[in-house]
Amino acid sequence: MKNSTNIDGQVPNWWIIILNSNRYKHQLKIETQNILQRGIFWAMYITLFLVVVVILNIYFFAHGLYDIKDILPEIAPVTVLVVVGFFVIKLLALNGVTSQQSHTFLILLVLAWCYLLYGLVQLSSDPLPGIESLADILALVFVFALFPNRKVMLLAILPFLLFSCVYRLYEYPDAPVFPLTKFVCVLAIIMSGQKIISGWFVKAVIRDFEKQKLVKQFKRLALIDGLTNISNRRHFDEILAQEIRASERNNHALAIILLDIDFFKRLNDTLGHQAGDEQLVKVAEIISAAVSRPRDLVARYGGEEFVIALPNTDLLGAIHVADKVKSLLAEAELIHPCSDVSEWVTLSQGIAQWEDGMSKDNLVKMADRMLYRAKSAGRNTVCSDEQSTNL
Ligand code: GH3
Ligand code: MG
Ligand code: MG
Repeated sequence: MKNSTNIDGQVPNWWIIILNSNRYKHQLKIETQNILQRGIFWAMYITLFLVVVVILNIYFFAHGLYDIKDILPEIAPVTVLVVVGFFVIKLLALNGVTSQQSHTFLILLVLAWCYLLYGLVQLSSDPLPGIESLADILALVFVFALFPNRKVMLLAILPFLLFSCVYRLYEYPDAPVFPLTKFVCVLAIIMSGQKIISGWFVKAVIRDFEKQKLVKQFKRLALIDGLTNISNRRHFDEILAQEIRASERNNHALAIILLDIDFFKRLNDTLGHQAGDEQLVKVAEIISAAVSRPRDLVARYGGEEFVIALPNTDLLGAIHVADKVKSLLAEAELIHPCSDVSEWVTLSQGIAQWEDGMSKDNLVKMADRMLYRAKSAGRNTVCSDEQSTNL
């Protein structure tokens, strides 16, 4: 489906960007398949209804022309196909029907209808306007069922439109203008109508796509710190609460580290706020590089404070991570012109280990106490509730 040509009028620039994105194309393909599958299913119901209408018509109005028994072999394929298709799709395959399978089913359904129409013609000695109407109705059914995909729709309706045209040409050879004009007009109306409806469909998919993108962006904004691009405090609080519940259930260890940049105010005052921001971003990258497990979470806790949640990690494991942060930061040699402890940026770190029954707030408070102790112990230090290291 050509995206931009399906939308009438002016297309905004941002739509062009969406229309060319692979994720949008993928979503459009999936939505089109869904609508087609639902359309084919709907066409099955209509088919059953039309079969009943054909039988009733023959029984009540064309009794002299047809015998019901004669037409049963022609009615059988379309009926069997729809009943089998219904059970296979509804009961067996459920939602697992591929587009190839549904297209095959559609072709069989169209062929079965053509066979029935041909049978009705064969068995009638006089021209019957009902046969032509039935072909027209079928074309209409498949237009609505298959509108999102022009090629598939044309494949399904052309046999019926041609049948309708040829039938009238055959029965009334002296008046060829009407069936030919009708064929061209109906085809033109269907093609232009399909363009309008599929344009609406594409617009709806674009709006849905845009909405999903916005929701993702909002979620991201709500959970990610804008400066450092790592998780923010809200995300950390959520994850820590989850991890505490998991540790309670599984009896696993859990530790957190609270990290605070030493003499950061002085760095701001001497190098400026922007340089301070840049150092914050680098420190966040270094801390993130120190953790490796998928469930470990590094967050900016506020200002120049960071926090690490370490699920399935005991005190020794957390001390190992803290030491790694310390050595990576030392290697990075981020300039700090007026720190009392080093010429480079340093961190004080407080570690707390979760114990059974401990709340989230108490765990953070404990880490904060350890951080305070690290500051009091001279900074650039790691403190935990069992030991204080000055590595
Ligand atoms: P200590 O070693 O005791 O932690 O000293 P400190 O100067 O790091 O601590 P203090 O709490 O006195 O100062 C923290 C400073 O961090 C104050 C504030 O200007 C700065 N800060 C907080 N958030 C940001 C930020 O987003 N960007 C920048 N550049 N600075 C920030
Ligand atoms: Mg500080
Ligand atoms: Mg601080």
